[in-house]
Amino acid sequence: MKVNENKIYNPEIECMDRKDILDIQSQRLKETVAHVYKNVPMYRQRMDEAGVKPEDIKSVDDLHLLPFTNKTDLRDEFPYGLLAVDKSEIVRIQGSSGTTGKPIVSGYTQNDVDVWTEMVARSLTAAGAGKDDIVQVTYGYGLFTGGLGAHQGASAVGAMVIPMSSGNTQRQLMMMHDLGATMLCCTPSYAIFLGESLKELGYDPKEFKLKSGCFGAEPWTEEMREKLEGLFDINAYNIYGLTEIAGPGVAFECPSKCGMHVNEDHVIAEIVDPKTGEVLPYGETGELVFTTITKTGMPMIRYRTHDICTLDATPCSCGRTHVRMSRITGRTDDMLIIRGVNVFPSQIEEVLLRISGVSPHYMLVVDRVNSTDRLEVQVELTDEIFSDKVSDIEKIQNAITEQIKSVVGIAAKVKLVPPKTIPRSEGKAKRIIDNRDLTK
Ligand code: ADP
Ligand code: ZN
Repeated sequence: MKVNENKIYNPEIECMDRKDILDIQSQRLKETVAHVYKNVPMYRQRMDEAGVKPEDIKSVDDLHLLPFTNKTDLRDEFPYGLLAVDKSEIVRIQGSSGTTGKPIVSGYTQNDVDVWTEMVARSLTAAGAGKDDIVQVTYGYGLFTGGLGAHQGASAVGAMVIPMSSGNTQRQLMMMHDLGATMLCCTPSYAIFLGESLKELGYDPKEFKLKSGCFGAEPWTEEMREKLEGLFDINAYNIYGLTEIAGPGVAFECPSKCGMHVNEDHVIAEIVDPKTGEVLPYGETGELVFTTITKTGMPMIRYRTHDICTLDATPCSCGRTHVRMSRITGRTDDMLIIRGVNVFPSQIEEVLLRISGVSPHYMLVVDRVNSTDRLEVQVELTDEIFSDKVSDIEKIQNAITEQIKSVVGIAAKVKLVPPKTIPRSEGKAKRIIDNRDLTK
C-alpha cells in the first residue's frame, strides 16, 4: 500500500488544545442558541416549553438543557420553516430522503457552504489529497450532498476534479485510467464494484495511479476496507456526514484509521441513550447527536442522527485533537441505507397503498451480492387479483417498480406473492430482513 504522509489542512484548528476547543464551542454555542431563539419559531417554542432561555446556555456543559431536534421536525417545517435567516441569504438547497415521499431539505448560506467545504477539505487532506492530486468524484451530483460536497472540498485543496457523478462503471474506469486519477470519492460498495470490474474489463491494476479513496454515505466494515485496499492498492478512508448538519465531512478518518475526527469547531457531538435521551460519557455506545455552532442558514440544535456509535477523545497519533467517532454500527430507527440511498419502509408502504391489487403486507429483503446492495420488495396480492390474468399481475409489478424508483430513488426487485403468505406478527410488524453484516 502507498504511504500516506500526515498532511493537515488547518493544523491550528485541527490540533488545538482540547481546552481551547471547548472554549470555542461554548462561545459559538451561545451565539447559535441566541440566533435560533430569535429567528426560528420552532426552536423558540421548544425552548420556552422546556423553560430554557438563551442566557441559561453559558457553556457546552449546558447543552443538555436544550431540547432535541428530529428528522420529523425537518419534514413538518418543510421546506423553509427552520431557516434562521431571510430566504434571500440562502445560496443552496441540498436534500435527502425523509421518512415519507417528501425529501427533507437544508438551506445553506454562503457561510454554510464555506464551512462545509472546509470540512471536506480537511477530510480529503487527511486522506492525502493536495494540489497535485486528481480526484474522481463518483458520488451523485444533485440534491444528494455527496457529489457537490466532495467536489467543493477537492477544489479547495487545489486538486484537479473529475466530476463523474455516479453510474456507468465502464466510463468511470476508463476516465480513472486515462486521466490518472489519484483519489476516488464514492460509496464503499460502489468502490468495491469498480474494483471488481477492473479486472473483468481487462485492465491491469498496476496501470492505475489511484493512491487513496474517501468512502462514505453508508455503513461499511473493516473487512470491506481490506478488500478495497487490496483491489486498488490504495489507502481507504471513512468519511461521514448527513445533510441536516452539512453533508460529507462532518467527520473523517486520518492516517491512523482509528475513528473519524469530528470537526468540533463547527459541530458539537454527544452520545445519548436512545431510549431516555440521557447524555452518556465518551466510550459508551449510544445515539449520536449533533449541534451545529457555525451554520447560519439552518442551524441544528441537538439533532438526533439515529446513528449508533461511540466517541473517543483520547490523543490520536496523527496529532489532531478533535474527538473521534467510531464506525456506525447500527440505527435506532428502521432507516435502511441501500447503495448509499436512505430508504424508510414507510416510503415503500406509501407506494403500495396507492396501487390497487396489492395488500399493504410486505417484506423488504436486503442482500449484498458482489458488494452491491440488492433490495427485494415482497408484496402480497389481494385475493381478487391473485386469480387474475398474468398480464395484470405483470402490470402491477411494473407499476410498483416504477413508483419505488420515483419515490424512493432506487431500483428494487418486486416479487408478488400469494395472499396471506407474508408472516403476520402480533406485535410490531417485522418488515425488514437485512442479510448484510455491517457489524464487523
Ligand atoms: P449522506 O448520504 O451524504 O451521508 P444523508 O443525509 O443522505 O447524507 O444520509 C446521512 C446518513 O448516512 C447518516 O445519518 C448515516 O446513517 C449514513 N452515513 C453517512 N456516512 C456514513 C459512514 N461513513 N458510515 C456509516 N453511515 C454513514
Ligand atoms: Zn487522527
